[in-house]
Amino acid sequence: MKEQLVTKKILKWYNLNKRSLPWRKKTVLQKRQYYTLVSEFMLQQTQVVTVIPYFNRFIKNIPNLKSLAKVQDKKLIKLWEGLGYYSRVRNLKKTAQKIVENFNGKLPDNFRDLISLPGVGNYTAGAILSIAFNKPYIPLDGNIERVLKRYLYLKKDKEIHKENLIKKKSIFGMSSRPSDYTQALMELGALICKPTNPLCHQCPISNKCKSFLKKDFELTKKKKKNNNKYYLLKVYKKDQRYLLIKNNKFNFLKNLTIFPMEELSNPKNFNKNLSFKMSNMNMNIKIKYMKNIRKFQTPYWINEKKLDDYMLPSFTKKIVKYLERS
Ligand code: SF4
Repeated sequence: MKEQLVTKKILKWYNLNKRSLPWRKKTVLQKRQYYTLVSEFMLQQTQVVTVIPYFNRFIKNIPNLKSLAKVQDKKLIKLWEGLGYYSRVRNLKKTAQKIVENFNGKLPDNFRDLISLPGVGNYTAGAILSIAFNKPYIPLDGNIERVLKRYLYLKKDKEIHKENLIKKKSIFGMSSRPSDYTQALMELGALICKPTNPLCHQCPISNKCKSFLKKDFELTKKKKKNNNKYYLLKVYKKDQRYLLIKNNKFNFLKNLTIFPMEELSNPKNFNKNLSFKMSNMNMNIKIKYMKNIRKFQTPYWINEKKLDDYMLPSFTKKIVKYLERS
């Protein structure tokens, strides 16, 4: 395959500048596929630097697909604790189970089978095909998208529409090393063409970059929806212990242990005590201390002094810490 100049320049830069990430370690094919699967799930909503220690701990404790398929939920959640977006780890285990049951324990190497796996969408399937199987795909993650928009100076609504970006990414060409090339483009976005203050003087493709030539690096912001949500969080306390319940009501933190809560729609004079960012929403929380303890289906009483002994999402731990301070 004859590579275009832009492809050659980006790969050359990558060879000299790539970070040594644990999922990039040279290893046997099956391990590389497993590492790619786990890292892609972890990276879906989390940055590389945050993911690294979680990835290392995860792989040490659950070294392959078979062990992931049968790992205890308690251990799994503990290993994910703090990464958030817990639906990812539940889907990751389901995916491992499906691979063991339906695909002979081998990660599928085609698009159709990959997207049939829980938690694997078009992007993740493309990333796996490219990174783990060296197939000629360029998945459009946030980093690659930013390089593309700046390189071609795409700003108008119709220009930055996903379908148009998918067409335009052909500008990057293709390499005979698709796995390295996808990672090179991602790395270029992460390290050089950063969201603010891109390091154009270190960029291998600056001579043809339209944003660089125009000295305008602003990206068109997508209009944000108002994702404010309001919750009343009920605190039941007895003998230094708090009552928690299993969450089977809200889509966030599903099946995990939380304080009893109810959502309020457009409350007036809502004086929040706490706020959290969760699954693209801004959670505003008002705390209410309850006097009478009512019956719940799955009550857990946790001792405020032994927080680390419990398998709790960091959301719940932060609330306990807040209660202890106030
Ligand atoms: S020259 Fe600057 S703006 Fe253009 S792709 Fe490189 S880092 Fe991004």
